[in-house]
Amino acid sequence: MSEPQSVAIVGAGLAGLTAARELRRRGVEVTVLEAQDRVGGRTLNHTFGDGTVVEIGGQWIGPTQDRLVALASELGIGTYETYDEGFNLVEYGGEVRRFDDDYFGLPKHVIADLGLAQFRIDRLAAKVPLDAPWSAPKARALDAQTVASWARLNVRTKLGRETLRVMVEAVFSAEPEDISMLHFLFYLHSGKDLDNLLRTGDGAQDSRFHGGSQEISLRMAAELGDVVRLGAPVLSIAQTGDGVTVGGHWGQLDVDRVVVAVAPSVIPRISFSPALSGRRAQLHAKMPAGYVIKCMARYERPFWRERGLSGQAGSMERPLAVTFDNSPADGSCGVLLGFLEGRHGRRAAALTPGERRALVLGDLAAYFGPEALEALDYVEQDWANEEWIRGGYGAHLAPGTWTDYGELLREPEGRIHWAGSETSAVWNGYMDGAVRSGERVAAELARQSGA
Ligand SMILES: Cc1cc2nc3c(=O)[nH]c(=O)nc-3n(C[C@H](O)[C@H](O)[C@H](O)COP(=O)(O)OP(=O)(O)OC[C@H]3O[C@@H](n4cnc5c(N)ncnc54)[C@H](O)[C@@H]3O)c2cc1C
Repeated sequence: MSEPQSVAIVGAGLAGLTAARELRRRGVEVTVLEAQDRVGGRTLNHTFGDGTVVEIGGQWIGPTQDRLVALASELGIGTYETYDEGFNLVEYGGEVRRFDDDYFGLPKHVIADLGLAQFRIDRLAAKVPLDAPWSAPKARALDAQTVASWARLNVRTKLGRETLRVMVEAVFSAEPEDISMLHFLFYLHSGKDLDNLLRTGDGAQDSRFHGGSQEISLRMAAELGDVVRLGAPVLSIAQTGDGVTVGGHWGQLDVDRVVVAVAPSVIPRISFSPALSGRRAQLHAKMPAGYVIKCMARYERPFWRERGLSGQAGSMERPLAVTFDNSPADGSCGVLLGFLEGRHGRRAAALTPGERRALVLGDLAAYFGPEALEALDYVEQDWANEEWIRGGYGAHLAPGTWTDYGELLREPEGRIHWAGSETSAVWNGYMDGAVRSGERVAAELARQSGA
């Protein structure tokens, strides 16, 4: 078989655009078909009234996210450190407390309890092979449990379990009851370990991109030029004997192969012919997205810094359970960022926009004082409302999925290849994982030719 001459790529997020760039370098004729009228997928910049750019989708980058770093620096996009000085806040038992150590301001017996649980989690996670989680020791037993059922057996204190719940929601925007324990362990290992995923300095939230993370996709799209077609949802993919026809209301395109680089939740919007295999269709159905509403308020200045606060807060009780200082690099104005994750996001989605804004600002005021009510600007993004994304941060695997379906994750189906952050072994679910998946699928297509 010869190297494919023409490839259609479905989706102009980081995965699809990276794949297009890599394939074009190899001389393949590519067309990127994007349903929306913009590129970037789950990365999206927002400009506040004063010109401050913030991201209402993915934004942070941290150590070992090497493929994303390499891509951004090739495109001339630099980073700056997330503001991470001063006391963090934690709320439990109806009280907001300050802390500046690694112990989340929790009582000693809860720290000991959680510390032991984390030791076990990290030890188990390190044994999950990233390319083949289904072959981990005791994979079936771990995949038969949820994070919640594991925690019931392994975390003795109620506050310890509540803290773990907030951590899980912060990482997945989903509940511990919904996530396979094996998937949880894989995901932590994929991004090193739990600490690394939660940490700001030197962790997954270490730095941000100048100009906002969407700039990476915007620059890739500009480089690719008119092969990126916006407003072109792919609604059908038909494999014929010697090629593939992709179609939508915009027309159709005959190519040698196709790369599907979209979130698993929206794959069923495409009609495949012949129909996808039963196992593959079920795999996608067992990869639901989390629910996240990302909310930001802008202030004249980062007033919380004057009180020695980092802007980072976590609560076992409040819907806006996790916050960060998201002010611009030069601190020219103050921006507080908060997430409504999982159950909190679903509940808040039922409110009116006015009620939700009041809830978010009210929670920020509970952490940082009444000045937080006086926002100059406010923006929020509910990712489940996005018809071509349907949730975030990413997909998680339900119990039993890795062991029964996992080996299909990256397996081509005929002339259809799969990319997207959820297919990455390393930094799965993150922007770096999306870039890696684009690079992997381009290499996979090259291998088809034995090149
Ligand atoms: C609120 C939020 C915060 C996050 N924070 C971070 C963070 O700080 N750091 C980090 O590393 N990651 C973060 N993430 C995750 C990160 O953004 C994603 O993992 C990554 O952007 C996914 O890229 P992708 O290309 O795989 O998929 P996507 O970005 O989902 O791109 C897929 C594209 O395909 C298009 N599409 C879908 N269906 C079709 C169709 N049928 N036809 C044509 N086009 C279609 C979509 O419109 C979309 O543009 C966050 C995500 C969210 C939602």
